[in-house]
Amino acid sequence: MNDIDYSRELSRCVRCGACKALCPTYLTTLNETMGARGRVAMLGELEGSRLAPTERLADRIFSCMLCGACKNLCPAGINIPELIYNGRDRLKSLFSKGRLIRTALKYSSTRMDAVFPALRIMRKMFYGPLFNAGLLPYIPELAPEPFKNSVSVYKNIKRIGRMAVFAGCSVNYLYPDLGKALLRILISKGYEVVVFKGEVCCGAPLRAAGLEEEAAALAKKNVEHFNRVRAEAVISMCPTCTMFIREQYPSLAGDTITSFMDVNEFLVKYDIASGLELSPAVVTYHDPCHLHYSLGIKNEPRHILKGIKGVEFTEMQDADECCGFAGLFSLHFKNISREIGRKKIDNISRTAADTVVTSCPGCIMQLEGLKKEVGLNIDVRHIVEIVDEAVNAEVK
Ligand code: SF4
Ligand code: SF4
Repeated sequence: MNDIDYSRELSRCVRCGACKALCPTYLTTLNETMGARGRVAMLGELEGSRLAPTERLADRIFSCMLCGACKNLCPAGINIPELIYNGRDRLKSLFSKGRLIRTALKYSSTRMDAVFPALRIMRKMFYGPLFNAGLLPYIPELAPEPFKNSVSVYKNIKRIGRMAVFAGCSVNYLYPDLGKALLRILISKGYEVVVFKGEVCCGAPLRAAGLEEEAAALAKKNVEHFNRVRAEAVISMCPTCTMFIREQYPSLAGDTITSFMDVNEFLVKYDIASGLELSPAVVTYHDPCHLHYSLGIKNEPRHILKGIKGVEFTEMQDADECCGFAGLFSLHFKNISREIGRKKIDNISRTAADTVVTSCPGCIMQLEGLKKEVGLNIDVRHIVEIVDEAVNAEVK
């Protein structure tokens, strides 16, 4: 968004407040400066030089979770998260809480594979004491090796089609088992699979940190590389990657990765999850924000789960409310993140479910951390793990 468009968008706000209705940071704090309308108003005043750029103002703009709950509510059609991204790019030097991470992201995002071993050692040495002192949220062990270090083309004698996997950083470095589960599903169903080693971070965490140019550079790399991969679809297990690549790559990189799909869309469109069976389980589902607010994917995971014989599906209250994770937000605004998350955990614990399923590795991290904190005995699983288990039970 250029300066003129940014200024014009900000001036279109009539301060009606409709966007506050679902804003999790506003509903948790009841503070106007922590809500959608307040943030748009502050950016407007800043743009008109009626408000000075201060650390406090930057803090409020960086306290947005970029969940997207507000953007479908504005009667004027203002894309509020887009304004927040632009505001962050302008205010980043004043957000002192984010300085260290911003520098680390800037220099490590293009060479994650090289810094990964050092990160593993650092996590082993420092994470425990920092977590016990309440300074860091729950972060799982880093994987022994990144998911994409494995074979790049999985041949299949059935070869009914060819799919590519976009793992994203959370699957690559934290949850490689989710990538392996998707591989098993695809291979069992007869697909040849490409796992592309040239994949880089999608850029979403960098843009959220105000690093617009660096995010654009990553986006261009992914577009250039993935559009050379021959595949019917590129499948992602992370809704933030999917939202970012579909919605923001066209303006950031001038193009996007073609046929990019969320795993739920893929499983339904290619009819992968029909006729499956599992041992009896009571299952509830948590909607990741980017999946339902940005991509409109809400029915697909329910259709998949309800279709598995043995699964008794139970809906939790406010299933589509945020879990409080939002990436770096859970680090910089830990108390609000936990407060939002506790509400989600309460809603989960009021169901009879023994398993909570979601479609986002970030939500899994948040729910795992909170369940440990409150001592809730429930399995937290990604939908690919459930489908993998059922498909492989079918294969045996
Ligand atoms: S993106 Fe989410 S947290 Fe940010 S202003 Fe909108 S509703 Fe609030
Ligand atoms: S809903 Fe739109 S017009 Fe109303 S306060 Fe929010 S951004 Fe402004």
